[in-house]
Amino acid sequence: MGTVELVDPFGRTVRDLRISVTDRCNFRCTYCMPAEGMNWLPREDILSFEEIERLARVCVERFGVDGLRLTGGEPTVRAHLPVLVANMTPGKTASVQVWRKGSEKTLTVGTYEGKAVKDEDDVASNDRGAVGGKLGLAVRPLTPEEKREAKGRTGLLVEDVGGAAARAGIQPGDLLISLNGTPVKTVDELKAQVTKAGKRVAILILREGQQIFVPVELG
Ligand code: SF4
Repeated sequence: MGTVELVDPFGRTVRDLRISVTDRCNFRCTYCMPAEGMNWLPREDILSFEEIERLARVCVERFGVDGLRLTGGEPTVRAHLPVLVANMTPGKTASVQVWRKGSEKTLTVGTYEGKAVKDEDDVASNDRGAVGGKLGLAVRPLTPEEKREAKGRTGLLVEDVGGAAARAGIQPGDLLISLNGTPVKTVDELKAQVTKAGKRVAILILREGQQIFVPVELG
């Protein structure tokens, strides 16, 4: 089935899709909310993750949308937002608007489609490092000098990759920031998160200045 362009009454082709993932927000901007109280939408009136993913997929595949923007309310209030981002169309980027330190910021996050690795590339599929067996990663904390260069960013530096992580597209040199939305600063923290994770995890990495969500299917 071919792509059908969405054209508005002014002749503009619609390329961006903005999806509100929640009406909730933990701020009270005077032009938006009353000083006290608020009638939030009932849970059943909010799109589920599956509905959001389907809507996005249809708009990308059928209407040629190439920009997905997740917004709110305050989108990070929605539980498990990283999992939703990770499940959006691979290879695309999404803009997440957040309110941080008194002003609105737009973070561009990518979802990465991993490439299959050959068996000989599967260097870390065996028990390697503290989290190698299940995830296939050898990681270490940043040195004090690397922390200074990271300008306050915390995480674990990926030194070697194989197995599930390699299949998902994680590379040596990536900075692993969080897993399923929980920041990881030590190998033990990462190990604990992996131990209690299900079959699929969303890993947030920093690569060349861009934050990328990588969905990883654990073996
Ligand atoms: S941050 Fe946005 S959603 Fe929240 S109160 Fe302010 S304008 Fe409304």
